Amino acid sequence: MTAPLPSTPDTAERAPCGLLAAGQDGIIVRINATMCGWLGMPPEAFIGKKKLADLLTVGARVFYQTHCLPMLQVQGSVAEIQVDVPHSDGTRIPMLMNIVRRQYEDGCNDEVAFFITKERRSYERELVQARRTAEAALDARRDAESKLLELNAALSQADRRKDEFLATLAHELRNPLAPIRNVIELLKLQLPATEQATKPLAVLERQVGHLRHLVDDLLEISRITMGQVELRRTHVTLADTMQAACDDTRPLAEAAGHRLHLALPDERITLDADPTRLMQVILNLLNNAVKYTPPGGDIWLSARFEAPHAVIAVRDTGIGIPQESLPTIFAMFSQLTPALERAQGGLGIGLALVRGLVELHGGAISAASDGIGQGSIFEVRLPAQVADAPAEPAPAAASAAWAGQRRILVVDDNIDVTETMTMLLETVGHHTATAHDGAQALAAARSYQPDIVILDIGLPDQNGYEVARQLRATPAGGAIFLVAATGWGQDADRERARAAGFDLHMTKPIDFGTLQAAIATLA
Ligand code: ADP
Repeated sequence: MTAPLPSTPDTAERAPCGLLAAGQDGIIVRINATMCGWLGMPPEAFIGKKKLADLLTVGARVFYQTHCLPMLQVQGSVAEIQVDVPHSDGTRIPMLMNIVRRQYEDGCNDEVAFFITKERRSYERELVQARRTAEAALDARRDAESKLLELNAALSQADRRKDEFLATLAHELRNPLAPIRNVIELLKLQLPATEQATKPLAVLERQVGHLRHLVDDLLEISRITMGQVELRRTHVTLADTMQAACDDTRPLAEAAGHRLHLALPDERITLDADPTRLMQVILNLLNNAVKYTPPGGDIWLSARFEAPHAVIAVRDTGIGIPQESLPTIFAMFSQLTPALERAQGGLGIGLALVRGLVELHGGAISAASDGIGQGSIFEVRLPAQVADAPAEPAPAAASAAWAGQRRILVVDDNIDVTETMTMLLETVGHHTATAHDGAQALAAARSYQPDIVILDIGLPDQNGYEVARQLRATPAGGAIFLVAATGWGQDADRERARAAGFDLHMTKPIDFGTLQAAIATLA
């Protein structure tokens, strides 16, 4: 068999690769149309005239001589050799070259297939580029995620600091309120009952009351956000709380010319709730209804049982709430523009507080309104039951009657507090002494022999609990009526005060009326 000469089938002519064959002397004996097209010359320019090595650039030719030819001799083929092949216009075409050496009777042919790698390279470049872009996007995402995490941590820290700041602020604001309230009480007792004296005093009292209310709300909301509120749950008859809340609100509602309607539920609904907090919830909603209803409006307080919940509703014919504000109205510090001029110095925490308290009871609150000027309705849902038994009679309110002179030792490191409190106590006929730290208190208790000691817990030398324990250990200590005066009124504080021997725990600023009532009940 002899080496076949230039006749190539059509498919080989137009194959998607360049094909050629060279004889034993390297001279090209066959070349297909694809290869001729790639190189820009007709077959006649190659066949019988050029060698395979002539098609290559100098560098490729050296490699061909030193590597390809020896390998062809040894193993009869080489594959995927990267070479540059010049076009007739001088440009270089990067190609991959496969060579197979075939033996024939009269010699051998090197049969070569070429593939252009330009596309493959640009494809590879695109792949590399795509990979780089993807990697860069991934890096950017990781960066963004870690920035987000940092931001999140900074935000939570800022939020925590804000909560702590609000708690401290409210706590600190309470302290100066105590002596101010004491002075007002004192002035009320001392000044003549003329209009000239009582009117400014009433303004002062109202404004201090308002301030105290704001400070209390602020303190309360910070406790709720910091999870520090403990409920003192008891069996509560809903109708009683509703009646009391209505009675409390009526003067305010009437002053604004509103009609306040109370619709008590048909059933006797009872709740396992903290009565003070429940009252706070209903009062807050009623106060808002009064505040945000133009004079001469109607306000309804009603309740119904929808097993297993009591639904308490406060409805008004007031300024209403725009639809878009309904979802955010319970957020802290949210005040709506149309209501701002009526806010009367509110902080926008009343509803946040109400929601916090309702949720602490395992309930939910919602607001609805048909829009501005269309009134609003707030509904509170709380777990409840319907009882068959008749309502228990409410305990009689403690009498605030004065019960004769007492010897009272007032202990507080704040001189304004001791001075104003003693002035007040003396004005209503008691005898007083003061002390400003624990050691002084113990010494005064020995020499002065008080019936009652009002003892601040945060004293400079030792805490009030310790002083109380030592007082109780003295021979006369058992008979003393011990009142703890603290800034914090948590259950745990009350429990601690009880354990230390206190008879009464009062949060600052001490309400003089409550204190008088407690003194009056003493035998
Ligand atoms: P404050 O009354 O101190 O502004 P609240 O948290 O009690 O704070 O109320 C937040 C806002 O919700 C109010 O500023 C007011 O815009 C709106 N709002 C509350 N109750 C009513 C109501 N009954 N009718 C219309 N708007 C109300």
